[in-house]
Amino acid sequence: MTRIEAKEVRVRFAPSPTGYLHVGGLRTALFNYLFARKNKGKFILRIEDTDQKRSIPGAVEKLMSTLKAVGLEYDEGPDRGGEFGPYIQTERSEIYRDHAKTLLEAGQAYYCFCTEERLEKLRDVQKKTKRPTMYDGKCRDLPKEKVEENLSKGIPYVIRLKYPKEGRIVFDDIVRQKVAMENSQVDDQILIKSDGLPTYHLASVVDDHLMEISHVIRGEEWLSSVPKHIYLYESFGWEAPSFAHLPLLLNSDRSKLSKRQGDVAVESYLEKGYLTEALLNFIVLLGWHAADDREIYTLQEMEEAFSLDRINKAGAIFDTEKLNWMGGYYVRHLSVEYVAEKSRPYFEAAGIDISDNEKYLKVVNMARDYVYRLSDMVEHATMFYEDLTFSDEDRILIEEENAQRLYSFWVEELEKKADWDPEEISSLIKRATGEMGIKGKNFYFPLRLALFGSCHGPDIPTLIDILGRDGSVKRLKDCLSG
Ligand code: GLU
Repeated sequence: MTRIEAKEVRVRFAPSPTGYLHVGGLRTALFNYLFARKNKGKFILRIEDTDQKRSIPGAVEKLMSTLKAVGLEYDEGPDRGGEFGPYIQTERSEIYRDHAKTLLEAGQAYYCFCTEERLEKLRDVQKKTKRPTMYDGKCRDLPKEKVEENLSKGIPYVIRLKYPKEGRIVFDDIVRQKVAMENSQVDDQILIKSDGLPTYHLASVVDDHLMEISHVIRGEEWLSSVPKHIYLYESFGWEAPSFAHLPLLLNSDRSKLSKRQGDVAVESYLEKGYLTEALLNFIVLLGWHAADDREIYTLQEMEEAFSLDRINKAGAIFDTEKLNWMGGYYVRHLSVEYVAEKSRPYFEAAGIDISDNEKYLKVVNMARDYVYRLSDMVEHATMFYEDLTFSDEDRILIEEENAQRLYSFWVEELEKKADWDPEEISSLIKRATGEMGIKGKNFYFPLRLALFGSCHGPDIPTLIDILGRDGSVKRLKDCLSG
C-alpha cells in the first residue's frame, strides 16, 4: 500500500531560492506546517531551483535559517535529509529527464525546435490581436524523421507537454471546490528547457509523486497550472494529490501585494524586531479563521485549531496596522525576561551597557508599553542610560520656583532611606501634593522632566523605581539651581 492510500499526510513547502522569504511564502509554509502537525503528518522543505537565472548564491541557507528563526521546523529537507531526498531540485535533474523521455515515448510530450525569435514574434502578434499568449503548436505534430534530423543536426530544442486541445477539465480544490477550465486555454507547457533542466511544472509534479505528497497547499497563482499538472499525473499513470490553493494576499487598496507598496520580505520584519509569535499569529489569519473568530494564538494553539476547510476564497488584506497591533500585543504579553532577551541585540548595537540586569528588566518592562517591535525599544530606553539634555524651554520650566521647591522636597525625602518601592513613592506623591499645594501638570511635568527628560512619559513611581534612589536624587540635584 502506498502512503497516499494509507492517508499519511505529507505536505511540502517548495520555495524557489530568490534571496528572501516572501510573506506569502511564509503563509504557505505555515499552513503546510500546521496541516502536517494537526494530522500528525510530515512537513517537507523542497528547494525548487531549476530556474538558474533566478537562483541567488546563499539563498537556500537563508531560507532555511529564516524558517528555523520563526519556528517552522521541517521533518525532511536539504539539511535534514530524509528517505525521499535529495530535496534540492538541481540535484535531481536526471530523474526529470528520464520522466520526460517516458512522456515523449508515449506521445504525451514533443520536441519543439522553435527559436526564441519566432516565439517572441508569436507573442507580439497574439498580444496585438488580444489573444491569450500561448504556443501555437507548430512542432506538435512534426514527423518522426524531421525530429530525428533536427536532433542529429544538434538544433536546440525544448520538450513540451502535448496537452489535449478539446473539451474542458473539472477538478476539485479544497478551498475553491469545483474548478472548471477550457482545455483550449491551457498551453503546451515547456517541460524541459533548452539548458536540459526541467521547468517548475514537470519537476514539481514528479517530485510531489516521488516524495509521496498527499496534499499540495500553495498560493492561488498556481491554480491555473493545475490542469497541466493533472494531465501529467494522468500521463504517468499516477494518482494526483489533493489541492488547496490559498487566497491572494492584497494591499489595503486591494491591489496584489507587491514589494513596491511595502515590505514583503520576512527577513526585514525579523530585522526590525517583530516578534515571531506576532508575525505567525498575524500570518495565520491571512485567509484562515476559526469558527469562533478568535484572534490570538500561540503556534501550538494554531496547530490544534487549524483546518483546511476554514480557508477563505476571498483575497486576504495584508494590513500593516493590524500586524503592528499584534506586535504590540505580544511585546506586552510575553514574559519581560523573554522580551528583554530578544531586545538585547538592539541595545548592544546601540552601544548601551545593559549589564545591570535588574535595571535592564525594569527598563524593558517600561519601554514595551510604547512599541510594537523591538528595534524601537532603544529610543524609549536611552534616557535611563545617558545624561539628560534640556532645551531652553525645558530650562525655563526647571527654574520656576514651584519646580525648584518640588526638587528640594523630593531630594530631602528620598535621601531619608535607601530603598523605596513604587507604593511608597505613590504615598509620597500624595503627601507632596498636599503639603506643597502643587497639583496636576504643575506637579508632574517638572518632576518628570527632571527624572526622565520629558514632561510626558511613564509615571513617577516607575521612573524612580528604574533610576533607583541614588539615580533619582542625582537627576533632581542636577536640576536644582543651587
Ligand atoms: N516553486 C514554487 C514557488 O516558488 C512552488 C509552487 C508550488 O508550491 O507548487 O512558488
